[in-house]
Amino acid sequence: MFTTLISQATQAFCIAFLIITLPLSPIGIALLAGPSRGRRYLRHYIDTVRRTAHMTQQMLKADVVARRMQIKLSRYKSATTEKVVGECTHCGNCCINKSCVYLEFDHNLHSRCAVYNNWFWKMTRCADYPINALEIALYSCPSFSTAPSAAMITEQPVKIITMHAMGRARLEGAKPVQQKEI
Ligand code: SF4
Ligand code: SF4
Repeated sequence: MFTTLISQATQAFCIAFLIITLPLSPIGIALLAGPSRGRRYLRHYIDTVRRTAHMTQQMLKADVVARRMQIKLSRYKSATTEKVVGECTHCGNCCINKSCVYLEFDHNLHSRCAVYNNWFWKMTRCADYPINALEIALYSCPSFSTAPSAAMITEQPVKIITMHAMGRARLEGAKPVQQKEI
């Protein structure tokens, strides 16, 4: 109950901040992207504002901030009964339903992140996706599924680190990990 309240309050604050600062959003988005990658958002100022407005709407719809907070505060408790299995096909759905301003697609229509591996990307913990069946369903991920975890039977410790490794492989386009335990 307490964690839900904190999560919802944080989300309300973030969404309100994004709405109020929308006209200035390309500046913030460029700063978060860094000097070499950020200029494009300023060059296409109006388009960046439009995309940020769409992303904000989708963030609210998918409860992005509240979910992240809940996961952080509950320390992945809900995920310990599931094993996430699959291989990312870079469809881009989990990037806030393809609305993230940093989402790009290469010539093969494979998703790429314009801020991959910078400090902001690490803070978002995008690489953790998907941690459970609910998250898979939320973005209709076509490539991952869940099965009962061996941890349920053997009481093995949670291997959080493997989620990060998988996420890196997903966004870098490297050969992904075939199975992961969370
Ligand atoms: S991985 Fe990059 S493009 Fe995808 S949601 Fe995170 S920041 Fe946005
Ligand atoms: S994790 Fe799933 S939803 Fe996200 S890009 Fe890969 S295949 Fe798409």
